[in-house]
Amino acid sequence: TKKLFEKIDESLENKDNYVETVELESFNDGIQFKDVSFAYDDGYILDNVNISLKKGKKYLIVGPSGGGKSTFLKLLRKYFLPNKGMILIDGKDLKDVRKESYFKRISNVEQDVFLFEDTLRNNISLYKDYSDEEILEAIEKAGLKDFVRSLPQGLDSMIYDNGKNISGGEKSRIAIARSLLQKSDIMLLDEAFASLDSKTAKEIENTLLNLKDITLVNVSHVVFKENRSKYDQV
Ligand code: ADP
Ligand code: MG
Repeated sequence: TKKLFEKIDESLENKDNYVETVELESFNDGIQFKDVSFAYDDGYILDNVNISLKKGKKYLIVGPSGGGKSTFLKLLRKYFLPNKGMILIDGKDLKDVRKESYFKRISNVEQDVFLFEDTLRNNISLYKDYSDEEILEAIEKAGLKDFVRSLPQGLDSMIYDNGKNISGGEKSRIAIARSLLQKSDIMLLDEAFASLDSKTAKEIENTLLNLKDITLVNVSHVVFKENRSKYDQV
């Protein structure tokens, strides 16, 4: 047990050592991976990755299971730092960028969506103040309008037990509405459409692909022929 605690102490120490100095006020240009390598233990999962993501462009990432797609997104979320190489955002080393200021620019949609035992409104707004208009716009874009309309209490309906009373597809759409509402610059999706039926998935994907200023990075094993060509790069 002693060894274990030493290891935990050590990892916490290493985390706190590095002082982030750069405040990211806005996102204007793009993100660049420069010779990025990353390993969890031994053996690189990402080996010398060079990729450039331009502001406002839409990217689809496909590949075999275990290929490193989620790891790539984790690096983009600054959940991990590269072992080698660097990630630049608007030319600044992401390592130096303050997490708080970076996290305002990005939003995440994952397959597992956590819901609170609270109203639909609070589950979408995450307790921040948004006007009804803004919330309804996000709901419409996320394909949740009919669902909300079908609820007797609309936005003020309660969600119970991490969404036991709603379907998997509705959960995903709530996550997408959350993400749209945050009006972040960069949207990262990790198999976000996996629990949607293909018609809904296609519609939502299409909506996201039409959002002009949003930079979209979509990791998905569900690829729709109709939408594939709308991505700037696959
Ligand atoms: P994908 O999303 O493309 O399916 P991942 O990025 O999740 O792939 O995983 C890439 C590889 O990294 C896999 O071999 C996986 O087992 C390994 N891996 C993922 N997460 C961890 C972790 N936290 N610790 C150790 N190995 C991991
Ligand atoms: Mg994955």
